[in-house]
Amino acid sequence: MANQEIFFGEPSPQANELRRQKKMLAVFTAFLAPYIFLYGVYRVTHGATLSGVIEIVLGSLLVMNYLAFLLHRRIAIAKPAVTIASIIVNVMVLGTGGINGTAAYWSIPFPALTFLFQGPRLGALYNAVFFVTMVGYAILVKIGVVGSYYTYDQLKQLWSVLILTNALGYAAENGWHKARQTLERQRGQLNTLLSNLPVGAVMVKKDGTLSASNESAARLFGQPILPTVKVNDVPKTYGFKKEDGTPYPVEELPLIMSLKTGKAAPQTKLFISRPDGSTVVLRVTASPVLDTDGKAIAAVAVYEDMTKEHEIDQIKSEFVSLTSHQLKTPLTAVKWAMETLLDGGAGALTPEQKEIVTETGATVERLRRLVADLLNVSRIETGRKFNLEKKPTDIATMIRSVAAESSATAGQRRVTLDVSKIPDGLLRDVDEHKIREVFTNLVGNAIKYSAEGGRVEIGVARAGKKAGAIYVKDGGIGIPAEQQDKIFQKFFRASNVEAKKEGTGLGLYLAKAIVEKHGGSIWFESQEGKGTTFYVALPPAAPAS
Ligand code: ADP
Repeated sequence: MANQEIFFGEPSPQANELRRQKKMLAVFTAFLAPYIFLYGVYRVTHGATLSGVIEIVLGSLLVMNYLAFLLHRRIAIAKPAVTIASIIVNVMVLGTGGINGTAAYWSIPFPALTFLFQGPRLGALYNAVFFVTMVGYAILVKIGVVGSYYTYDQLKQLWSVLILTNALGYAAENGWHKARQTLERQRGQLNTLLSNLPVGAVMVKKDGTLSASNESAARLFGQPILPTVKVNDVPKTYGFKKEDGTPYPVEELPLIMSLKTGKAAPQTKLFISRPDGSTVVLRVTASPVLDTDGKAIAAVAVYEDMTKEHEIDQIKSEFVSLTSHQLKTPLTAVKWAMETLLDGGAGALTPEQKEIVTETGATVERLRRLVADLLNVSRIETGRKFNLEKKPTDIATMIRSVAAESSATAGQRRVTLDVSKIPDGLLRDVDEHKIREVFTNLVGNAIKYSAEGGRVEIGVARAGKKAGAIYVKDGGIGIPAEQQDKIFQKFFRASNVEAKKEGTGLGLYLAKAIVEKHGGSIWFESQEGKGTTFYVALPPAAPAS
């Protein structure tokens, strides 16, 4: 990929340099050409024909040099031409004394100007030549080989002034030159880095104008990114969509959010309908660019192509959805058959037969629950059939019923279930069936991950921020601190869970999805080896009207 300039609205270093050189050349020519030309005229009219003509020619050549530069932008010819001319003039003027012996003083600005014009290196070279000429001339005057318009003392004074202006010119130009070189080098590195990144990058200034973008961004968007587009028009111009195909709301754009909050925006998925008809799925993150006061002056968004990943995810979800659907019906049939057998519907069973059928029935039930969980996961992921049927529901009654249902399992493990801290008439606006699944899972986990003879308490938090949240508390194995952030992930099971404890790692993933779909929240506090408390906050039921 070419190392192209990616910053909008800012001239490239090369363009900047050319502009500067042009300006300096104009200043130098405007200063030098008339000076040399008029001097030449003066000399010719005062009898010094040869040196006068040389100067007239030189002055005219300088003007032509500048015009040639304007036409061809050949700075390589223009720069040395002016330098050589100024050396010739300086030496000539010095040697001949100029008008009334003041020529040496006219030379004073040249060294400093040469630095500005030529940069520190060529400037130094020019000055070296000039100085050698000057010193040589002074020595010749001193030993009386040549006569001069100046006394030796005058020449010494002149040197002092020249050395001073030289030093100032050099210091200013060198400092500036170095700072500019550093900036340009850094900018060049940044440029190369951004242009060659496989991810798209777009930078927006506080005022909403685009300030930079790289090639990958244009490739992902399927069209060039124009600096004239305002950030508010970006979703429309580039066909940004949400997963359901609706236009991407401007205020949810990570770039905008990041500019507004001064913080990194949460990762989001973005769909783009490109001009060629294809669609890409991008993962977008945005971070602010802060000034020294910590205020956001710009924001950078990074776009990563996740089209393949998205497709695979979809295929996976479809597959899970399909297989769990297919498994559900036969499993239900097996369950019914077992129940009929147990009820003696196919003749009385011997105690041994009954035991075998009961055990098989329990296994089938576990299988059926797993299939139901998988089906729920696929519903959440495809967004299908996951509608809530909310109504004011008495949570206390629900939890007591869940506890009663779990009492057999709790009894086997000699775990006490305490629901006495749940007040009556605890109404919440929920889908009863789905929220029941959440508590069945939390209470089931609390029993499963408790030690034999442990105690599980279900109640309602009273104080502080947690007030109103329903908790399920156990004194069991707890969750290792370093794995706590993963606990709600699909299929995640903590490392301290014994292999023989059955589980899929889907329960909490589903619980979180269900609770959040209700607009509620679920969280926990846990200490490994001490116990875990899960909290569920649900929206209150609207007062009956
Ligand atoms: P499962 O229990 O089927 O493994 P869940 O999604 O319900 O799956 O839970 C995920 C993981 O969270 C569990 O495997 C376990 O490591 C941890 N966990 C959940 N509840 C508790 C609890 N009450 N005490 C300790 N660990 C728990």
